[in-house]
Amino acid sequence: MLANQTPIARQVGQPLPRSIDLVVIHCAATPSGKPLQQGKPGSVGYMNAPQVIDAWHAARQFRRRPEAVRAFSSKLPSIGYHFIIDLTGEVWSGRALTEVGAHAAEFNANSVGICLVGGAEREAKYTAGQWKSLQAVVSMLLSDYGIPCAAPKRVPDKTRKLGYTMFGGVCGHRDLSPDGDGDGLVEPFEWTKTCPGFDVRAWLARGMQPEVSQIYQEQQA
Ligand SMILES: [Zn+2]
Repeated sequence: MLANQTPIARQVGQPLPRSIDLVVIHCAATPSGKPLQQGKPGSVGYMNAPQVIDAWHAARQFRRRPEAVRAFSSKLPSIGYHFIIDLTGEVWSGRALTEVGAHAAEFNANSVGICLVGGAEREAKYTAGQWKSLQAVVSMLLSDYGIPCAAPKRVPDKTRKLGYTMFGGVCGHRDLSPDGDGDGLVEPFEWTKTCPGFDVRAWLARGMQPEVSQIYQEQQA
């Protein structure tokens, strides 16, 4: 682990910096089970998963505030997520929880963004270590911020570009999509993207456990 990147434990116990009532789960949209890195560990120019994602976000013109970069994750000046969960289950910090993220247009101000490496497939598979860490990170956020372990509420809000706001729960990026037919459920045909490739509501209902078919097994590679 690089010294500039702070593991999750170091953020636990920090004062609650802004009003957070929404947890959004994302994926990197890279092939399941494939390490996200550039070069070989230890070689010149090697980039780990958060560094690769930081480069993607830099290319999209995401920029953290300079004082925030100085204070936290100083080698990740662009990354939009707060947490990145690597294939091994290792949890990396991106933005500090004090910072507004750049991961879900219209929903950044009140949310935390978590990104799982992998997830390119419509039915994503994550490693057992990733599922375990996801449960740990989400559980910590729910307990620290008093967020219900449920799908967030969606409330009409004419001041928002999308016409609604969402708060008070945990969801996947795709669940923020507009409810095109207005039946109160965001259905697969309405998803503007498939990220994170699994049904977060069902995962919550199973006590934050994956289905066996959602666990990446090395021999499948
Ligand atoms: Zn996403």
